[in-house]
Amino acid sequence: GYHKVLEENRKLYNQVQDLKGNIRVYCRVRPLAGEKQNNHGSVSNTNEGSISLIIPSKNGKEGKKTFSFNRVFGPSATQGEVFSDTQPLIRSVLDGYNVCIFAYGQTGSGKTHTMTGPNNLTEETVGVNYRALRDLFLLSEQRRDTIHYDISVQMLEIYNEQVRDLLTTDGAHKRLDIRNSSSNGINVPDANLVPVTSTSDVLNLMNMGHKNRTVSYTAMNDRSSRSHSCLTVHVQGRDLASGNSLRGCMHLVDLAGSERVDKSEVTGDQLKEAQHINKSLSALGDVIASLSQKHSHVPYRNSKLTQLLQDSLGGQAKTLMFVHISPEPEALGETISTLKFAERVSTVELGAAKVNKDGSDVKELKEQIASLKAALARKK
Ligand code: ADP
Ligand code: MG
Repeated sequence: GYHKVLEENRKLYNQVQDLKGNIRVYCRVRPLAGEKQNNHGSVSNTNEGSISLIIPSKNGKEGKKTFSFNRVFGPSATQGEVFSDTQPLIRSVLDGYNVCIFAYGQTGSGKTHTMTGPNNLTEETVGVNYRALRDLFLLSEQRRDTIHYDISVQMLEIYNEQVRDLLTTDGAHKRLDIRNSSSNGINVPDANLVPVTSTSDVLNLMNMGHKNRTVSYTAMNDRSSRSHSCLTVHVQGRDLASGNSLRGCMHLVDLAGSERVDKSEVTGDQLKEAQHINKSLSALGDVIASLSQKHSHVPYRNSKLTQLLQDSLGGQAKTLMFVHISPEPEALGETISTLKFAERVSTVELGAAKVNKDGSDVKELKEQIASLKAALARKK
């Protein structure tokens, strides 16, 4: 019948998505600031899948260095264009996959612009977070006759290796623990988990979270964010006919600036902040590197960030990293190290992702995995 056709379509769709790989890296170049807009800066050109930098050398000649990614967005790409390739991941969350979308880059490179948007939010300028939730609501509504979904959100901050709740009215001071449970996966039980039914609910919560987020002065940006912020969306689905349940989760992470410590000329508390940021970003790189080399031990426990994202990084999840660079010539050093980090991440090819379902569908899952493996083998 009709439902069987739908189901087949969904499977086929997921197979196609799985073949594209579970970790994708998109690079976004922000526009040059102010009056320099006609200039290319350090980026000579971009196309769909690669970016070329102009590298000055000591003998006065210019070199060129090209980096390849799953997708590259140039300075004129709109928020809508940047989000359009992300939409399939949103569907995955409703199908019971874990998804992690994160923004990486030095301070001022456009991470918050991509995830949240600029200060004056309009329909056109809203970022990935809002668009992702809007799509979640739309898609879950389309499935209302077959599946009932409950959607709730948490908003956390990791600052100096401490997890804090951003959805609290008492200033987010309490340190929270990350737990792992068989029924809920990785979770932060003491953080507020707020049910949402509309995009306006989400906007209100995001406003509250942003007010709570820790910001402090650095030499590079007076309101630079020295913490990782993570909007986590929990989706619980119940099949109305069979009663089976599924659980999906999406982390939307705006990482702290990736710039090296010496650049920011910081001391004291700010040096400590920078060291914590360095530690967690290198832990993130180490986790992904060890996943790509298929090591049996993956060092998730080396930072709070990798602990929190544990079940959204690796074979059971789909990960999308937006890597941000600024074309300003002064940023070239950081731009190169950002692109090197990103290239290390993007070579990853992990196994087929797994759906979080309850025990009743193990047989079906095994069949699905077998057919995905066969499809993968055919691809090679
Ligand atoms: P980060 O979060 O990485 O520190 P921001 O997102 O705050 O960087 O961006 C720094 C500044 O540049 C902001 O004023 C932001 O509005 C602007 N900006 C960043 N990316 C873009 C873009 N793609 N288009 C227009 N302005 C941008
Ligand atoms: Mg920011």
